[in-house]
Amino acid sequence: MKTYAIAAIPGDGIGTEVVSAGVEVLAAVARREASFAFKVDRFDWGGEYYKKHGRMMPENGRDLIRTHDAILFGSAGHPEIPDHITLWGLRLAICQPFDQYANVRPTRVLPGITSPLRSVDGPELDWVIVRENSEGEYAGVGGRVHQGSPLEAATDVAMFTRAGVERIMRFAFRLARSRPRKLLTVVTKSNAQRHAMVMWDEVASEVAREFKDVTWDKMLVDAMTMRMVMRPQSIDTVVATNLHADILSDLAAALAGSLGIAPTANLNPERTFPSMFEPIHGSAFDIMGKGIANPIGTFWSAVMLLEHLGDKSAADRLMKAIERVTADKRFHTPDLGGTARTADVTKAVIEAIDGANA
Ligand code: NAD
Ligand code: MN
Repeated sequence: MKTYAIAAIPGDGIGTEVVSAGVEVLAAVARREASFAFKVDRFDWGGEYYKKHGRMMPENGRDLIRTHDAILFGSAGHPEIPDHITLWGLRLAICQPFDQYANVRPTRVLPGITSPLRSVDGPELDWVIVRENSEGEYAGVGGRVHQGSPLEAATDVAMFTRAGVERIMRFAFRLARSRPRKLLTVVTKSNAQRHAMVMWDEVASEVAREFKDVTWDKMLVDAMTMRMVMRPQSIDTVVATNLHADILSDLAAALAGSLGIAPTANLNPERTFPSMFEPIHGSAFDIMGKGIANPIGTFWSAVMLLEHLGDKSAADRLMKAIERVTADKRFHTPDLGGTARTADVTKAVIEAIDGANA
């Protein structure tokens, strides 16, 4: 029997709550499928680790997880530590060196969940946003001088490489092709940003020629926010830069009912390094420790993890169990207007996995 090695990195805040729930659910899927097992190694990196050691993860941290089959991540973000330290010290310190350049964010209105959009009650909103996850606005290029003096200056330079844009465009066109509507929207801002974003557009048109069966259009990011709200059914697959997709996908999550539901996969498509799966939400300081975090975003991320491992049957079983549970309002956490707790939702999903006809 195959055993998959999973590195669980709960991180901070509700990250620890939802990753524990995610590990329980993965164990239940493995038990029910009986064709594979998980060996889960837990790494307590994050804000508390930082307070003790002055860094978010050990210096050889990446070596400790390099050979795992996948990473299940919670959130980086601690109320007592600046956000750029927690983010760069943990999440980006894994994504970027492991070349997880394709960040895939599906959005769908799950059964039983209400979209804030009046025109949407399910199939009208079924998107996948592909976020460039290795360069662009989050390349880390820039600097700060004369701190605190009136001469102070600071720059953040967005870095786009032809190789980086080509590979994310190809990934997005391929993903669009694999979906029934074969429809891709390339998000840009080439009216205002006249160098890198113009190259982004040019590469999109070049790569499009390899995908004659995919219909594609181009949209400025500000107009895209309006289209997501006004004409959600006109969208299917979307590709956008690191920053643009970061913002658009929080909007997408809200339009699908709650940030607590939205999953993401940070993929290294060449499989040279492990890929990382995480809910898109953060540490949620306002609700941490209360036991009411919605774990569905983590469970859906676990579905993406199973798909990445190639176990379609397990992935389908878990997704069906999730949908059965969201359809039942008794299992809605407060972010969805209910009173259920993280543990109630977890238990219900495990029961749905174990169910005779599940
Ligand atoms: P957040 O996602 O933590 O919270 C935004 C709002 O959504 C809060 O009101 C929160 O209660 C709610 N929410 C989020 N997830 C929820 C869930 N599962 N169930 C119920 N409600 C949920 O975003 P923020 O407040 O901007 O950030 C808090 C911290 O998290 C910051 O330190 C930030 O840097 C970090 N962060 C980390 C990541 C990551 O590691 N991937 C992503 C986003 C934010
Ligand atoms: Mn974000």
